[in-house]
Parts: sequence; structure tokens; C-alpha cells
Amino acid sequence: MRPTLALVDDPSMALHACHQRHPERPERVEAARAAVDASPLSRVALAPRDATDDELARAHAPEHLEVLRALDGADEWVDADTYVVPGTARAARRAAGGALALVDALLDGDADYGLGLLRPPGHHAGRQRMHGFCLVNNVAVAAAHALTRGLDRVLVLDWDVHHGDGTEDIFRDEPRVCFVSLHQDGIFPGTGQADVRGEGEGFGYNVNIPLPAGSGDADYLAAFDRVVLPIVSDYAPQLVLVSAGFDAHARDPLAGMELGDGGFGAMMAALRGALDQGGRGRLGLVLEGGYDLVGLEGSVRAVLGALAGEDTTTDRSTPLRVDRALARVIDQQRDRWPVG
Ligand SMILES: [Zn+2]
Repeated sequence: MRPTLALVDDPSMALHACHQRHPERPERVEAARAAVDASPLSRVALAPRDATDDELARAHAPEHLEVLRALDGADEWVDADTYVVPGTARAARRAAGGALALVDALLDGDADYGLGLLRPPGHHAGRQRMHGFCLVNNVAVAAAHALTRGLDRVLVLDWDVHHGDGTEDIFRDEPRVCFVSLHQDGIFPGTGQADVRGEGEGFGYNVNIPLPAGSGDADYLAAFDRVVLPIVSDYAPQLVLVSAGFDAHARDPLAGMELGDGGFGAMMAALRGALDQGGRGRLGLVLEGGYDLVGLEGSVRAVLGALAGEDTTTDRSTPLRVDRALARVIDQQRDRWPVG
């Protein structure tokens, strides 16, 4: 049977639109939607809803929610990169609510896989911080929701080209959420060093994989083979949420990686292959970055193709740039995980 895809796609997220040229724009969702429309997966449309304060408070501090309330209807910049327009707070609550609906659909058995075309993106939003185009951390709100539904092994895999500093911050001492981030070393937000591994009971459940500029399909797949997949297999997550940014694409204007569409598809195929029964019923993606519309559409198309079981084609033959970077990561992680 064709796998089913629970889809969150809500027009109110387009209310978040900057008055001036900005890379984080509603057209991004239109590009991703075109890929969904071309996908062989059967779609299950999820009813939109807003995240409540209680649901947001599982990931964010009370002060953060006060700021969010104060921004309702506002028209301003919360930092040099991050705009707020009158519809932004509504869009942010709806985006987080979409991530919640995605988790519920997966845990209730309503679909095999999930995809949230969410804006504004979330992974830079910390417990008490808005920055990097992000106000509410959608994937963190979703992971925290899964914990309240009784799960105790949730894996958040963040392949956005930027480090998911907000998600790391929110779950730094939480062993029930394992956070694995692949990102370009040395760019915004400047965090994500390999030796940052979590705190307290959460120590060991924060895995940073900084990769050098110019890394391409073969490099990312080496990182999967040697680090990501061994951790996925060992942790045996009950739910996997992918912070699916597509800005490591070679076409992306905001970063310097060289992934092609096929590289994203191959990463998804590899992840799916590491999960029992291809991860059916426990694999959801939420959109983060990705600012080149052609690259975004092609990459989403490749990822959905991989979920549908299509063969992925990618070039693994280029010389690896990541050997030294991966050696450092493996050095950090080998006392906890069977990496190498
Ligand atoms: Zn990004």
C-alpha cells in the first residue's frame, strides 16, 4: 500500500510576510507545496489549530510567552534578522499547533509519515530567546508534547545548515529527547561545537556534528553512516522529528554547503532504513530553513520520494572533506554511542 503523509499546510502561516525583501518569505511554502503535490504519497490533511500557552510553556519560559503576547499585532524587528508583522504571532501559534497536530496524527496511527509546512521556522528559538527568523520552537514544542503523551525516547534530527541552538537550549538537560544536529561549522548562530553534549541527566543526548563549508552529498552521507545512523539504531527512538531545513543545498544563498536534491533524498532513505519498518508511524518532518525556491522544491520532492520508497541517486564518489571533522565528533561521542 502507498504510504500516507499527514500534512500540515495552513494559509494563516502566510500572514508572516516581511514588508521588505527577506529570505524567509511565504513563497517558500509554495515551493514546498509544489513538491508535495507532485509526491506519490497519499495525503491526509490535518486540521489546523493553535498551540495553547500551556503547550508552548513546555518548551518556553513564561517570560517568552509574555513577549509573544506583546508581539500580537506588532510591526517591528526583534533582532536585525527577525521581523514581526501584525500576523506573525498568530502564524507562530498556528505553526507550533501544526507541529502538535503532526505528533498526534503519528501517535494515533492516522498516517505513516508527517510533514509540516511551517512558518515562521523555529529551531533558533530558545527557552527564552527569539532570533534567527524564529520566535517559537515548533519542533521543541512537538517533542515536549510527545513526552506528555508518554514517550521517553524522542529523537530530533536537525539537518538545517545552521545549528539548532534553540532546540539544544530547550533540551540541554532532558535525556528523553536526543538532539542530533548537522550544521556548517563557523556560521550563524556560532554555536554547535562537537564538545557541547548536554548537561546533567541530559549529558550525552546532545550530539553536534559541525561540518566544513563545501560539504556535499558524499560528506553528509559519511556523517550519517558513521555518526547519525549508529546513534539512531542504538537509541531506538519511539518518534523521530526532523528539523528539516533545506539551506545546506548548493543553491542556497545563506550558506556554503553543496548538497543536491539527491543528497537530501539519500539522507531520508538512510534514516528510514535505520528505523524498523521504515519508521512508519513515527517519522515527522517540520520545515525550518531553505531559501532558494528551486532547491527547496527539488529537495522536498526527493525527501518525499525517499519516504515513498523510491530509489535515491546520488554521487558518493567525491573526495570526503569531512574526515577530520567526523574524527573529532567520533572522539567526543564514542564513550556514549557506538559511532565510528
Ligand atoms: Zn538554517
